[in-house]
Amino acid sequence: MARVHLPVVDARPERPAGQGTVTGDPLVDTFARRIRYLRVSVTDRCNYRCSYCMPETLEKSGGLSFQPRSAILSFEEIEQIVAVFADLGVRKVRLTGGEPTVRHGIVDLVRRVARVPGIEQVVMTTNGHLLADLAVPLRDAGLTAINVSVDTLDAGRFREITSRGDLPRVLAGIDAAVAAGLRVKTNAVALHGINETELVALCEDAWARGATPRFIEHMPMSDGALYDSSQRISAAVIRRTLEEVHGPLVPAETRNPDAGPARYWALANDPAKELGIISAMTEHFCDDCNRLRLTAIGELHACLGHDDAVSLRDVIRSGGSREDLVRAIAGAVSGKRAGHVFEAKAPAKHMIGIGG
Ligand code: SAM
Ligand code: SF4
Repeated sequence: MARVHLPVVDARPERPAGQGTVTGDPLVDTFARRIRYLRVSVTDRCNYRCSYCMPETLEKSGGLSFQPRSAILSFEEIEQIVAVFADLGVRKVRLTGGEPTVRHGIVDLVRRVARVPGIEQVVMTTNGHLLADLAVPLRDAGLTAINVSVDTLDAGRFREITSRGDLPRVLAGIDAAVAAGLRVKTNAVALHGINETELVALCEDAWARGATPRFIEHMPMSDGALYDSSQRISAAVIRRTLEEVHGPLVPAETRNPDAGPARYWALANDPAKELGIISAMTEHFCDDCNRLRLTAIGELHACLGHDDAVSLRDVIRSGGSREDLVRAIAGAVSGKRAGHVFEAKAPAKHMIGIGG
């Protein structure tokens, strides 16, 4: 299926690599950004087919293919790679997918990653379909926090967006995760014509469940033709919509350096109620980017918005040493771009393969 490129609203030029501080530290890039956080996609499979991520049309047209089992990193390989990152200073690992809970043995993987010396936080992003039964085992294995994707509170619309999703199951999963003592955030991709009338309700529902709501600006990946840029709801509109009902928002607590890209806001008249917005398109956070992404087949991507990658799996499977892995990681970090240029050039890779 042909990819339709959206009109350019962000044509910020690339800064050439080579500017900025080069410290000799493999996890400091040429723009002096320090990598603190590794996202690991543990599978390219999913039990849902969300329209913005892995639309069924894309799959049926042959625009998406799955990797054979032999291509996917084993738990031992993931552990080996995480151990090298931990030695280099990474303290937080997020397991994502595809859908991480469909990977057989996911609880064991969490336990293994949580035991890697130096790793302080193992967290996960999930669609929540299997979470009700997994929340306690995941917590016992060492998971501390979980993000659950919920774009709507209307069961019929949820089914339309996800093709095969089950909203009551997902909400039960959120409740089970909160009851298990996990820190829970919800993720909704904010889109006109899909969930624009539910932004306030999504926040109120998350707060009532003991979770923190978050919104993600739609990014033109995975067949961006499905949505055009006029459907994206910007961070500014999201804030304004909340303020019309709940009064002014103020920036929430100081950011943790290991945190992800969301910016957090709190209700001025009830500061315990926070919401996060991942404003990838309209309010860049590339200058503060602190993360790398490892795909299920072991490709290390320095930026979500570019296709360059270095295969750590090939280093391991060709008998490479720890030093070879460090060299490959340093290569990926030194090539990390200044920022994405989504609107000018959407990456060829799919969200399902990289994990958000
Ligand atoms: N399956 C898990 C889930 O749905 O949470 C983890 C993987 S999913 C790719 C990670 C996150 O990316 C989800 O919160 C999803 O809503 C978001 N996402 C997927 N496609 C997106 C897109 N085109 N733009 C913005 N966010 C997207
Ligand atoms: Fe699957 Fe998550 Fe993508 Fe939906 S957003 S298709 S649940 S990987």
